[in-house]
Amino acid sequence: MEPAKIRPPATRQPAPQLLCQSIVQELVESSPEAIFLETLTGEILDCNCAACQIFGYAEKAELVTRQIKDIFPEKVAVTFPAVVTEELTTGGILVEAWGKRKDGSLFPTQVSTRLINYEGEQLVIAHIRDITVEKELEERRAVRQELTAALSTAAVSVNSRLQPDEVLDCILEQVARVVNGEAFNVMLINADSVRIVRWRGYDKLELGIKVSTEPMPLDKYPSLIKMLRTSAPVVIPDTLADPHWVGQEKEWRRSYIGAPILIGEEPVGFLNVNSTEPGRFGAEDGQRLQIFAIQAGTAIHNARLHQQLHQYAKNLEQRVAERTAELATQNARLETILRSVTDGIVVIDPAGTVLLANPLAEKWNAEFLPSADAQKLREAMRTLAREAGGALALTLELSTADLQLQAVPVLAAEGGESQVVITIHDVSELKTLERLKSQFISSISHELRTPLTAIKLYAQLLQYKNPNKEDEYLAALNSEIDYLVEMVERILQFSKISVHQITLKLEPTDLNVLLEAIIKSRQAFAKQKALSFTFHPNLGLPKIRLDQEQIRHVFLNLISNALHYTPAGGVVQVSTEITVDNGQEWVITEIKDTGMGIPHQELPHIFKRFYRGAEPRREQISGSGLGLAITKELVEVHNGWITVESKENHGSIFTVWLPVNRGPVLNQV
Ligand code: ADP
Repeated sequence: MEPAKIRPPATRQPAPQLLCQSIVQELVESSPEAIFLETLTGEILDCNCAACQIFGYAEKAELVTRQIKDIFPEKVAVTFPAVVTEELTTGGILVEAWGKRKDGSLFPTQVSTRLINYEGEQLVIAHIRDITVEKELEERRAVRQELTAALSTAAVSVNSRLQPDEVLDCILEQVARVVNGEAFNVMLINADSVRIVRWRGYDKLELGIKVSTEPMPLDKYPSLIKMLRTSAPVVIPDTLADPHWVGQEKEWRRSYIGAPILIGEEPVGFLNVNSTEPGRFGAEDGQRLQIFAIQAGTAIHNARLHQQLHQYAKNLEQRVAERTAELATQNARLETILRSVTDGIVVIDPAGTVLLANPLAEKWNAEFLPSADAQKLREAMRTLAREAGGALALTLELSTADLQLQAVPVLAAEGGESQVVITIHDVSELKTLERLKSQFISSISHELRTPLTAIKLYAQLLQYKNPNKEDEYLAALNSEIDYLVEMVERILQFSKISVHQITLKLEPTDLNVLLEAIIKSRQAFAKQKALSFTFHPNLGLPKIRLDQEQIRHVFLNLISNALHYTPAGGVVQVSTEITVDNGQEWVITEIKDTGMGIPHQELPHIFKRFYRGAEPRREQISGSGLGLAITKELVEVHNGWITVESKENHGSIFTVWLPVNRGPVLNQV
């Protein structure tokens, strides 16, 4: 024991003069402290009873005349002269020193000395107190404090981890601070079995122990079962003496301590500590391990919660990502649909604000329509948005297009504002077709009525039986009937094309010969109209595979138009040529006239069904508006194409391109 710090002596009151020697003697003898009177050289001159008791001597005589160093180990005894010296200057001393009993055992003491002058000689009075109990208490307090600190450090450390693996590692690392064992392990419970998941210290034992991580049935181990039942630690000071201990073949564990790891009241595992020495662990160790196991349980619980939370967040993140991708796909799909539909689509709120418009709708608004029409369109949409409680439709006749608007309300989400989806469908074509059809019906009626009236007239004239005129009337009748047949034929042909009922009979054809025949058949008419009508064939034309009947219709129609729409004195020329374009040979036929020409704005429409130019209608030139539509279809089913160049009042050039060495893709149209 180290000497305690020197403290200044207590201030003492002077002894009452009245105390007689016997009283002083009584006071000294009744003191619980050992009191010695000694010389400066350490020789014991006298002592009290307590001195005998404390130092284990039967009577004073055994102590008196001994040296102070006999009852204090030398190291302490030699301090006395120094103490004395100090006493001279400071007036007192208090030290702690190991006392030595008669039987040689050492015990802690507290010593205070006082120097006195007795009849001219300097002596020392020493008071000695046995402080064994105090020291033990102090030591125990220190150990407890140290353990509390170790436990709290371990708990903080374990609880600062959030990953389950780290927590288990840390538990194992810290348990060694709490319990002084040699081999440690952590077991986790899974249903009816346990498994060692972490271990430590086995290598250091150098016993070649192999730790098994295989699941072990819980019910095989009474110590574990007991912990489950009691939720309390199990301490086995000597495993060999414990009848319930389940030993191993070469049992190295001589003492054991275990504590259940609980989450709330549910046991989830065990902390096990082993030692090769028997009696290594006591009940206090068990308590400490239990306190630590509670912390370990909390840490495991937190880590599991954290992991669950982490997993939940991860799942949530993944679900959000999946949903976002899904929405993106849906949006992309929707956008593609909106882009690809041939109708304009607008989503609008009741106040008339456009919330969404597909590109076509935007174009209707910004590009396709002149601003006055676009304004009308916007107003119409606003009206529909306001009124479209149920589905509504209206047709908007604008200066440049006919649009059909269809409004469908969108069911609003709860509390949300209702919206309206408006589709804008361009019905201009349909409307035009309707108009053209009406025109067709009226003009075809006219076309049919005129020859029929003539036929009726000639038939009546024939009744008068004028032999001089009969031939003339019959010829006129025949001509009118031919015209009627031709007209009906065209209508039939058109209807066949419309329902794709034409079968091509392809055969190698000399186009020059075919054209020659047509031109010949129309010469009389040309002459009658005083037209110059000539043919300029390229004599080197290869034969091409054609349906002669259908191609005859093509050129008859184009040549007839040229003759019809060219006033008297004009020129109509037909020519053939061969050309190569992009490695493909083509026979081209040009029908050129110097007639009325086609106005620029009519050019895009002349190949449409029933379309007739304004001028022919005004001049009442007969026609059905079907010729060019039929012509174009027939040329295209031969894999060819037709072009037109024309200038009003100057004439037109129709050019037909037919491929050489290339059969048509379709045999049936
Ligand atoms: P149709 O001749 O019976 O009116 P088509 O389909 O053959 O019908 O022609 C459509 C329109 O094209 C004609 O009404 C006319 O306005 C114009 N057209 C065709 N060929 C010529 C041409 N050679 N010269 C001037 N206009 C033409």
